[in-house]
Amino acid sequence: MTSKDELKARVCAEIDRQAERIVAFGDEIMRNPETGFREHDTARRVIKQFVDMGLEYRSGLAGTGVKARMPGRSRRRTVSILGELDSLLISDHPYADPGTGAAHACGHNAMAASMLGAGLGLQPVMDELDGDVVLFGVPAEECIELDWRMALREAGDLEFMLGKAELIRLGEFDDIDMALITHTEGAGDPLATMSGTANGSLIKRVRFVGRSAHAGNEPWSAVNASKALTLAVSAVDAQRETFRDSDMVRISHLITHGGEAVSAIPGAAEMEMMIRARTVEAMEDASRKVDRALRAGSVALGAEVEINTVTGYLPLVPDEPLVDVVDANSRDMLGDEHVLRHGGHLGSSTDVGDLGRVMPVAHPFAASGNDAPMHSNGYFVRDHVLAAVNPAKFMAMSAVDLLADGASGAEEVIRDSGPKLGRDDYVALRRRLDSVRRYRGDEE
Ligand SMILES: [Zn+2]
Ligand SMILES: [Zn+2]
Repeated sequence: MTSKDELKARVCAEIDRQAERIVAFGDEIMRNPETGFREHDTARRVIKQFVDMGLEYRSGLAGTGVKARMPGRSRRRTVSILGELDSLLISDHPYADPGTGAAHACGHNAMAASMLGAGLGLQPVMDELDGDVVLFGVPAEECIELDWRMALREAGDLEFMLGKAELIRLGEFDDIDMALITHTEGAGDPLATMSGTANGSLIKRVRFVGRSAHAGNEPWSAVNASKALTLAVSAVDAQRETFRDSDMVRISHLITHGGEAVSAIPGAAEMEMMIRARTVEAMEDASRKVDRALRAGSVALGAEVEINTVTGYLPLVPDEPLVDVVDANSRDMLGDEHVLRHGGHLGSSTDVGDLGRVMPVAHPFAASGNDAPMHSNGYFVRDHVLAAVNPAKFMAMSAVDLLADGASGAEEVIRDSGPKLGRDDYVALRRRLDSVRRYRGDEE
């Protein structure tokens, strides 16, 4: 029997042989950015690679997702290697699409390339593995363009606002046992960071409705919706000291409508809010306090308030037994001194947190050659060898560890990662966090 080390050496040699193609693919996606659920062209580019590899694929999953299965010699377990497809919106980014403002300011182009690279490396050894590998290009990781996504939801085209959440709901992860996905990070060192937790989030779309009137002639006839909103924001701020540091609560708001003319007291005012926290319990606690603060604004002015709460991401807790596998391979490849095991807790979020509710996940980070803050107009992948070729290798080597020798590595990870939610329970959890509530401020 071929040893795992021998298989890994063959996998890495193949990835090296294909390195130029992997780098070129990452660069091609970077120059053709598309935002979530709109990645039609990006999906076509991934499909072209699958076709060149001779793989059968399924497409149009949750709109734009694409998935190809590479069968092993026996099919005991399935490991998926994921690549994001979507970009952000930053119109003054050097690689922004001039028409849409879409830009790869989160490095997801390299994630699509590392998925392809891992697939290219594993393809020649699949008939020596006891399980399948699924290459999965997944849409809409960034939680943006909410109005548009809400409209899709109201039209029945999607239920959840994020790609992986929607794909889980649709059953597209039912045939997968565990997932590996590598995000980009800073310039490096470290060249790779293995593990870190991340906040979950809830979105609120808030609308205050009062009564408009001439601001000079008869302001006494008005109910100022904008003042109800600003009072509510102050009440939210008064809550901030009640959050535990360890829960990492972040509450952000953006006033999207505050009135139309200074001579007319606004009869309606709107804002978007994002509430982030480290656990579902802390998300719910912060959400209750925010709702109370919103009602306070409505009571003070006698306005109505409608609060539409939509689940964003669930908190990320990577599965350490799976991270152990990726960690060992990264150290073999990059050297101990270039690999950081724990990256700490991130205030930001990812829908890999959602996936981690239903299966073991590892979500390492790889250097990008760029030290600018992520989501800024200066952040893009400068070095696709660091950001795509390296993770292609350590994810593919990990797949060998998981699936060779009767897939015993995968069995161990499943056994040691502890219980996961079934699809129905996961969907029920997200639906429980969603709500639409209306309060009248003038009720006694
Ligand atoms: Zn991002
Ligand atoms: Zn990202």
